[in-house]
Amino acid sequence: MNAFKDFSDPLVETRPVSAKGSSPDWEHSFAALGSAFFSEIAPQPMAAPYWVGRSASVARDLGLSQAWFQSDDALQGLTGNTVLTGTRPLASVYSGHQFGVWAGQLGDGRALLLGDLADVRGQRQEVQLKGAGLTPYSRMGDGRAVLRSSIREFLCSEAMHALGIPTSRALCITGSDVGVRRETMETAAVVTRVAPSFIRFGHFEHFSNQEQDGEGPPHRELRLLADHVIGQHYPECLMCETFPGNPYAALLQRISERTARLMAHWQAVGFCHGVMNTDNMSALGLTLDYGPFQFLDAFDPSHICNHSDSQGRYAFNRQPHVAYWNLHCLAQALMPLIREQEQAIAALESYKVVFPAALQQHMCAKLGLTDARPLDADLIEVLLQMLARDHVDYTIFWRRLSHWVAAMHTNNSVRDLFIDRPSIEAWLLRFEQRLGAQDPVRTSRTMLRTNPKFVLRNHLAQTAIQQAHARDFSEVATLLSLLESPFDEHRGYDAYASFPPSWASSLEISCSS
Ligand code: AMP
Ligand code: MG
Repeated sequence: MNAFKDFSDPLVETRPVSAKGSSPDWEHSFAALGSAFFSEIAPQPMAAPYWVGRSASVARDLGLSQAWFQSDDALQGLTGNTVLTGTRPLASVYSGHQFGVWAGQLGDGRALLLGDLADVRGQRQEVQLKGAGLTPYSRMGDGRAVLRSSIREFLCSEAMHALGIPTSRALCITGSDVGVRRETMETAAVVTRVAPSFIRFGHFEHFSNQEQDGEGPPHRELRLLADHVIGQHYPECLMCETFPGNPYAALLQRISERTARLMAHWQAVGFCHGVMNTDNMSALGLTLDYGPFQFLDAFDPSHICNHSDSQGRYAFNRQPHVAYWNLHCLAQALMPLIREQEQAIAALESYKVVFPAALQQHMCAKLGLTDARPLDADLIEVLLQMLARDHVDYTIFWRRLSHWVAAMHTNNSVRDLFIDRPSIEAWLLRFEQRLGAQDPVRTSRTMLRTNPKFVLRNHLAQTAIQQAHARDFSEVATLLSLLESPFDEHRGYDAYASFPPSWASSLEISCSS
């Protein structure tokens, strides 16, 4: 189907452009699954677009030429005003559980997959335009994304990548003065995001729940999808010793493991996603669909970052449980292929092994410990309780502790974060004894590469958003450059690494985007 005509705006010329000079190598491995999986649809043009932010690093990784990335062709193509030569825009269909309830069919309501490109390492990367207009899955939505949420997604994708956390990435944002109604009138933007695959748990749920029409083998699409994911991303499942002859159980196990590792990353760095619905859970264990996310300021295990989440379903300390719950939805969706219930249960079990081990490893790394000892879990638990009791800033604590180790324990910067001085002093003494003969300078250096100085706090994003609304995108660029190397000191930018201002706690971030 070619629906370009349905959506083209007579004011905006549609013309083919090429991202990689004469030989663009767009492929369409998702589209090869067949028409049951998507609807082809042209992007909806946006008048008079302008650049809001660009990641030179993503462009480099994708092998895009600098000249092209600066060009008007790129601006028009990545806004959806032209169709890049070789691309084949499509919206995929998926379903999902939202806030614990089966929501039925959802789908890409405002994202269009252009196709996939080989990056400089030869890995295929899918490229999506988010906010590029209506699709058959837009339901009550307008197919658009607002500038505010696009800036948050763009910056956070790149921040997470630089922190070493699996994530979709963001090539750029383009904006337009076209009005978009949310709680108030805002303006539209398009984020170009990049990932090896945007397949979600919800894709499996969709094809598992589809009525069987009696023609052809049962669950044909579900099997096609699972085989595609295995073939492209988990080929090892075909020769899994734990699940011989059952690659689908092996797939569930591998996704469980990757999800467990992702949760360990989030918990260790203090990242709260905010909307862990199954349609936002990546089959590759990537952080996906940045909405009302937040990096913790003061450490509060029960922190709820999504203003719309009145029950606290997605509170910070519930994330690992929710991920496990979501994996059960995935397991259920895969049951027609896995068949043996015990195998599905065994595959899910790996989450319970991998998550605590990975979290423990991250926390020990944050402490700079070079080996593991039985009492480390208690050392960490006591510390987290103190951080929570005294509402200590999570990121600042770890950074100061990293410096404290090299300062031969003489500075008070860590102690000063706490109200309960005797407890932190006792803990620091215990930590000092635990470090024992470890070289303090080397340990500190390792800790400074593990505990970031800069994270995308809500108030930092908010300041960039406010300036962007006045067409000043310099703060977006500044934040991007800090967050691209969050472990570096960036002399002169300490204000970006300091405590949030008092107005930050009154910021309400909802699902509205
Ligand atoms: P999200 O909460 O952003 O993960 O979105 C949940 C579902 O709603 C997905 O199917 C989205 O594609 C869809 N959606 C969200 N916002 C819009 C919008 N403005 N227009 C169309 N669909 C939307
Ligand atoms: Mg989503």
